[in-house]
Formats: sequence, structure tokens, C-alpha cells
Amino acid sequence: MKLADTRGRALRDLRISITDRCNFRCSYCMPKEIFNREYEFLQRDLLLTFEEITRLTSVFKGLGVEKVRITGGEPLLRRGVERLVADLAGLGLDDLTLTTNGSLLRRRAAALAEAGLRRVTVSLDSLDPAVFAAMNDVDFPVSDVLEGIEAAVAAGLTPVKVNMVVKRGVNDDGILAMAEHFRGSGNIVRFIEFMDVGSSNGWRLDDVVPAQEILDTISAKHPIRPVAANYPGEVATRWQYVDGQGEIGLVTSISKPFCAGCTRARLSAEGVLYTCLFATSGVDFRAPLRSGASDDDLRQMIAELWEARTDRYSELRSGVTVNLPKVEMSYIGG
Ligand code: SF4
Repeated sequence: MKLADTRGRALRDLRISITDRCNFRCSYCMPKEIFNREYEFLQRDLLLTFEEITRLTSVFKGLGVEKVRITGGEPLLRRGVERLVADLAGLGLDDLTLTTNGSLLRRRAAALAEAGLRRVTVSLDSLDPAVFAAMNDVDFPVSDVLEGIEAAVAAGLTPVKVNMVVKRGVNDDGILAMAEHFRGSGNIVRFIEFMDVGSSNGWRLDDVVPAQEILDTISAKHPIRPVAANYPGEVATRWQYVDGQGEIGLVTSISKPFCAGCTRARLSAEGVLYTCLFATSGVDFRAPLRSGASDDDLRQMIAELWEARTDRYSELRSGVTVNLPKVEMSYIGG
């Protein structure tokens, strides 16, 4: 059974946050002033168990979901994530991937691949140790993340996708260095326009470096050309180096919204389902899961939610929408 929303968009991708905790405090996602010692993170008994996540994912698969991405917070902080990976891999999905800040990847990559993970996406906002430390705001060394990427490559979790959120006046002078570092490596850097996710990152349009400017910066030194998407609804636009040294991606939520092809749903670590990254509310699945709902009940709930979906936040973004009480990215994953 395939579901389609009010704009004919299929439900194809499920992003599953398995923790709202992180060991970084990136200013565009989890600013330290808000996510401090007093911040109340989700208690363990509120988190969906791996069994509940796997059961729900199997229901989603039956409704057309082909790709699952495990996210957080920082998912590798959740104990036993390899077991969840093995359970999800057992469902026979087309793709099973994970987004991480790379801090724990060096030690975990091999076991994750062994468990059945296909690929990883690593957030890396700068190669400059000082800028990187400033952006993650916990002084974590960039060298450890680079070693984590090497470990992922060695474990076969390839191509590794490297996400760089570009913020004007913070790390934008590192765009070319990032592109050149991964050129010819087979790994793919995706340059992400700084987004007004959540309600706590102080987003301003002035801090956004539009995709065209990023492209111009790179193509001035290394000519690139656009290439077709790998599949409908792919988040990043693809650009290939003319000299065959690989490709880069651009995530253009601000300058070129891509809601028309958005096939993504997001599940929070405590079982709330959101149909947009910029949503202000979601639907709770933990209560029905823990009060005897059948798979048919869950299927019905998902179908009703998705078939009524109208989300197109990025197309409607304005000075008003920016201040809506949107769900935090650290709570539902990117
Ligand atoms: S803004 Fe919402 S609907 Fe648009 S692409 Fe992002 S998640 Fe999808």
C-alpha cells in the first residue's frame, strides 16, 4: 500500500531520532545557553524501546517507506544502537543510514557496518580546528571527526556524506577548503544553507549564504555541472566536478525550497511523528503502542496523518513563520 499526501507526495523516507541528547552544542541546533545543565532531556522510560521502533518501522515499510535514517541528538550516545541497526536491517529496507557528529565514529564504524548499516552522514562544519571548536561549542577536535570518517570508509559505509552548515561570517571562508579536502575521495560534501529550524538558534536571513554563492566560490576554482537526482525527492541537488573528481551537494531550503518533492516523515525519540522539519506539532504514537494498538490501528493512524498532509513550510517562509514555536531539530533530527 502506497500513501500519498494532498500534493501527491509519497511517504518514502522515515527519519528516526533515538535520543534528544548530544555531546556537542552547535549554535545552529543546540545552543549552550538553552541546552544547559538545567535543560530537561527525555528520561529513559519516555524513549521508545528498540522493539517499539522496529515494530513501528515495519508498519511504515508496509506503507511504502523504503529508506530509514537514524538520527538524534547524537544517535551514537544511545547505548546498544548497533542492536537497533541489526533489527532494522532485518526489515529489508532499500536503505538504512545514520547521521552523526562523528565524535564516536572512529570506535563504532566497524560494528555499525557489521550490524547492517549501509552508509553514514557526518556533520562537519569546518576543517579549521578553531572554527570547528567554536561551532560545536565543546572544543571537540576536528581531527577525531576526520578519523571517524576514515574509519567509516574503511568499514564500507560509503559514500560518506559530509554535511556542512554554512553560516556567514562564521565558517563561510572554509567552503573551498572543505570542497578540496574531499574532492577525489569518493565522499560527498553537502553544503547546507543555514535554516530557521526550531525556535532557539537566533536565525537571521543575513546569516544565510545562498547556494549560488557557494557554487560560485567552488566553480571559480573547480568547474562543476549539475547532474540529475538519484531519486525523486532527494534533498540535496547534485553537482559534479567537470574533471571527474567527484561531486558535491547543496541543500537549499532558503533560496530554492524543495517541498514539492518532500517524502520525509520524522519520528522523535519519544514516539511523536512529525510530517515537516519545521512543524509546530506532531502525533503521539507511544501511547497507542503501549496500550495495545494493533498494526492495523497504527497503519490507520499513519495513513490518516499522511493523506491529510499539506506541509510546505520553506515555500511559505516569512518574517511571521520564522517565529513560530517550531519543534527543535535536536528533538526530531535533521
Ligand atoms: S520544509 Fe517541510 S515540507 Fe518542505 S522540504 Fe522541509 S520538511 Fe519537507
